Amino acid sequence: MPNVQEILNLASDLSERDKKLIAKAYDFAEKAHEGQKRMSGEPYFIHPFETAKNIARLGMDAKTISAGLLHDVMEDANVTKESMDRNFGEEITFIVEGVTKLGKLKYRGHERHVESLRKFFLAMTNDLRVVVVKLADRLHNLRTLQYVREDKRKRIALEAIEVYAPLADRLGMGRLKGDLEDAAFPFAYPKEYAEVQELIKGKKEIYEKNLNEFRSALEGELKANKIKAEITYRLKHNYSIWRKLLKHDMDIEKIYDIVALRVVVDTVEECYRILGIVHSLWRPLLGRIKDYIAVPKPNGYRSLHTTVFTGSGGIAEIQIKTKKMHQEAEYGIAAHFTYKEGDKKSPLDKKSKFKWIEELKAFNYAPEEPKKFLENLKTDFFSDRIFIFTPKGDVIDLPENSSPVDFAYAIHSDIGDHISGVKINGKMSQILSKLKNGDIVEIIAKKDAHPSGKWLDHSRTNIARKHVRSYLEKNSLLAKLKSLGRGK
Ligand code: MN
Repeated sequence: MPNVQEILNLASDLSERDKKLIAKAYDFAEKAHEGQKRMSGEPYFIHPFETAKNIARLGMDAKTISAGLLHDVMEDANVTKESMDRNFGEEITFIVEGVTKLGKLKYRGHERHVESLRKFFLAMTNDLRVVVVKLADRLHNLRTLQYVREDKRKRIALEAIEVYAPLADRLGMGRLKGDLEDAAFPFAYPKEYAEVQELIKGKKEIYEKNLNEFRSALEGELKANKIKAEITYRLKHNYSIWRKLLKHDMDIEKIYDIVALRVVVDTVEECYRILGIVHSLWRPLLGRIKDYIAVPKPNGYRSLHTTVFTGSGGIAEIQIKTKKMHQEAEYGIAAHFTYKEGDKKSPLDKKSKFKWIEELKAFNYAPEEPKKFLENLKTDFFSDRIFIFTPKGDVIDLPENSSPVDFAYAIHSDIGDHISGVKINGKMSQILSKLKNGDIVEIIAKKDAHPSGKWLDHSRTNIARKHVRSYLEKNSLLAKLKSLGRGK
């Protein structure tokens, strides 16, 4: 049976007020979903309860955990915005509304537009906490996917792999990404999943045994050098093993990090010292030494990686990082809720974070002040973009004030060159009108319809303008030829 204490135990650093808030959200959601059942036959409340647990595990704050408990009450239990506002305040209501909106978004499997869908997803949320709740919600849904109708399973699983997991990755939430992928993998690619299971059968035990011996040797060395380190090992997620197998002709022997040792220390200096010690005792494999501390991965991941011959014929990957790097790699943006002010920062910290988001501008990242950071989770990366749907549900990402002409050329130049009419949200409309975020646009193309000079004033994208211009140039040339009597 669910109980609120389970959530509180998973969360970190809660004040008495925080605990009261979570308890209130717990009671409210339990009552709102009373009598409702999930497809598994379980009480519906199990779902928001598990979602909140996923959020608490990430170290998120009390408001986000409460929003997790409440995330389905507006959509599925007819709780009004007024009642939410009155009981939990604007912020939590805002997060719940955001999650409800995202629920309406559907992935339809058109590879080409997946990136736009991810952007749209972020553009709609305005607050990264909405994304965190949505990802935690999706994780629990994936873990109960066997109860969902078979034809729906694959779509939901693919959506998780194509849209949700990459988003978790970009927010630096490595653990959540891996969990989402692993939960989705058997449903998205059942045959491949079985194949991976078959390939690694028995392997894991051998690697683990090998690694355990190596681990005690390394522990001894670190003790002798008076370095305090926590050494654990991790198994690679099934889905990432499969991705790697694809890169290496399905040859399991070429994957060195199915299990890896994780050495976690206090300081960056210790990381490099340990790398030195390891290399002086065990021979490293060529090309497998990676310094992601000096050069972090685009999502901010930092660590030293090396792979060594362990002596007994085995090979082992070692990842060396500080506690903080480890937390950030696992929890990403969520890690920042658990940091106290006054934490020492290296000057590299600021530059390396969330490159992807930085590139999208406007993300005011301030790791030195967790409270500010919280406020800055409000996003407006995409305030100058609009996202337009085709009737089939593909998303096209366009600059603000774009027209159906831009939309048509974004799909195909041949469609752009023959626009004769347009339906916006099912209604016949002007082809030079301004599109709005979320419009569904259908272009009616006819062979004898052609671009006109006016189109240039009403298109925002280079691709549309280029095509219109080149059509007009060709055409005026033809007209000239015609007037000279040589056109026929
Ligand atoms: Mn839900």
